[in-house]
Amino acid sequence: MSGQHHPEPEPYAAIRAKAIESLLVEKGLIASDAVDAKVLAYEQDIGPLNGARVVAHAWVDPEYRANLLNNGTEAIAEFGYTGAQGAEIVVLENTPDLQNVVVCTLCSCYPWPVLGLPPTWYKSHAYRARVVIEPRAVLKEFGLELDDSVEVRVWDSNSDIRYMVLPERPDGTEGMSEDELMALVSRDSMIGVARAKSPAHVG
Ligand code: FE
Repeated sequence: MSGQHHPEPEPYAAIRAKAIESLLVEKGLIASDAVDAKVLAYEQDIGPLNGARVVAHAWVDPEYRANLLNNGTEAIAEFGYTGAQGAEIVVLENTPDLQNVVVCTLCSCYPWPVLGLPPTWYKSHAYRARVVIEPRAVLKEFGLELDDSVEVRVWDSNSDIRYMVLPERPDGTEGMSEDELMALVSRDSMIGVARAKSPAHVG
């Protein structure tokens, strides 16, 4: 997302968090890299792993899949994934003919219990503004080229409803266990800007 020539000023909360962090570091109470590690864990591990577990389970269990699509919040809560920013989660199913993509045009609403903290690009003005106007072009920049016959639906999250995408189960995964399948489910595939990984691409 390089088309952003006028980055927005940092929100107050971000500035306050940085001020608190530097105070704690200055007083020797914490190390700065400990904070970075925590944030990174939330962004890249804890959150998306929860979502990946939900997706992998839905891939192997048709009844769970139906429940997940019917009442996302409830089906996700079966795993114990509840809490802040997850009061109502709606799960959208991608198919060969339909690509669902999630955004929050207003700010950065995101389903924390399953995906953790949103990545920086999700919060960027460029993504929020462009994905609703030219979703195919944006997806292409993410490396996802869609056939013209594939319908693209963009879903605007808000403080009441947050969306998570159920990506398609990749071909060639018939014999794989749920744990193995989890490794194929990237964060981006659950936002809808990527496909789940093909088993050939996972080492
Ligand atoms: Fe928002």
